[in-house]
Amino acid sequence: MAKINCIGILTSGGDAPGMNAAIRAITRSAIASNLKVKAIYRGYEGLITGDIKEFTTENVSNIIQRGGTILKTARCAEFQTPEGRAKAYENMKAEGIDALIVIGGNGSLNGARIFAEEFDVPCIGLPGTIDNDLNGTDSTIGYDTTLNTIVECVDKIRDTANSHERIFFVEVMGRDAGFLAQNSAIASGAEAAIIPEDSTHANQLEQFIGRGIRKSKNSSIVLVSESPKCGAMYYAERVRKEYPEYDVRVSILGHLQRGGSPSASDRILASRLGVGAIQALKEGQRNVMIGIRNDEVVYVPISNAIKSDKPVKKELIDVLGILSI
Ligand code: ATP
Repeated sequence: MAKINCIGILTSGGDAPGMNAAIRAITRSAIASNLKVKAIYRGYEGLITGDIKEFTTENVSNIIQRGGTILKTARCAEFQTPEGRAKAYENMKAEGIDALIVIGGNGSLNGARIFAEEFDVPCIGLPGTIDNDLNGTDSTIGYDTTLNTIVECVDKIRDTANSHERIFFVEVMGRDAGFLAQNSAIASGAEAAIIPEDSTHANQLEQFIGRGIRKSKNSSIVLVSESPKCGAMYYAERVRKEYPEYDVRVSILGHLQRGGSPSASDRILASRLGVGAIQALKEGQRNVMIGIRNDEVVYVPISNAIKSDKPVKKELIDVLGILSI
């Protein structure tokens, strides 16, 4: 296997708090191992356009506490074409980059997997997504911070819901995964969560109303996973039509969920994964995502990590059900 002298780092897809902590950890750990570091801006777009700059340890000073990503991020359609990836490879070679570390979600890691197979380039993935929907790691970078942000918002919504005696449907992010909705519902003491993974999805509203908004409870909060068809608006409309006796409101938390300073957990996770990525390269690993499972750093083949079938534990659904009586 060719010796690695220089690594490239990029962040891709949706930004997530803690990405900067990961960039810092990768950069410093690479330099400590006598590797050169090239920062690639705007995800795969920067690889195609050659928006690349060498990093020293100073470039990553004072960023561990900052949300977003100093490398910027983008969704790049051109990288999904063989021609786009060929351009990316040419630029990578011209810059002397021998291996690529990609921090991103499902799509970004899939892109890395395809690129690595096409061009025989060592690629390492870091799970950088607020959705927590990657297999093989207990958590993803940004998930814990976002969970805390949502809980802070729901606590505030609870005050007004309670004062006006209303039902609030609070829509949160998660793409096709219900981790954010389910766990923020537990943490905020919400009455229910409507998530894509629950097989009783279609009837979740009936169940919730059927269980009764207890007489002693004068308000209710339901966390809903975003969905083009069945989001918070959809459920609020249904309650208005089917249960007109209730006063219903919707709150879509939107992009504020992505922002803010990363939590201590996310900073530690990102730091460990960043150091793990360089360690993996030194061990000759390629095409793996670095994860943490049961508090141990693990290497997960990217093809397994992106399978999109990470389950929300049934136990979590039960916990919420029991505690919301
Ligand atoms: P998040 O989970 O936060 O949304 P993500 O990484 O899943 O992040 P996507 O928009 O799915 O976000 O993917 C980000 C980028 O990864 C795409 O814009 C594209 O550049 C690249 N990518 C995604 N899928 C592929 C693919 N099949 N082939 C090549 N590149 C891809």
